[in-house]
Amino acid sequence: MEEEIEGKRTIAEELLIKASVLKWCPIHEDIILSGGANIEDAYKLANYLFTNGKDEWELQHEFQDRREMTDAIKEMFEWHGGGADECALCMKD
Ligand SMILES: [Zn+2]
Repeated sequence: MEEEIEGKRTIAEELLIKASVLKWCPIHEDIILSGGANIEDAYKLANYLFTNGKDEWELQHEFQDRREMTDAIKEMFEWHGGGADECALCMKD
């Protein structure tokens, strides 16, 4: 059960990055920043992939329905605080 939730969070995070809502700091591999796009863009991409996704983006295999999927995306977005504008570690250097 825990692993299942973890998997959904990872996918939600990947969707946010794929939609450019969030992005990884190019230098610090564990820091997530704002990618500039709106969270609505991640919902749109996720809904598109829920219908049309293939291979690793077969979201219907991961989520029971669209509501569960968009809830997971929102949760991850908020967990990352919406993504910082600047990497705190890069600012220090
Ligand atoms: Zn950085």
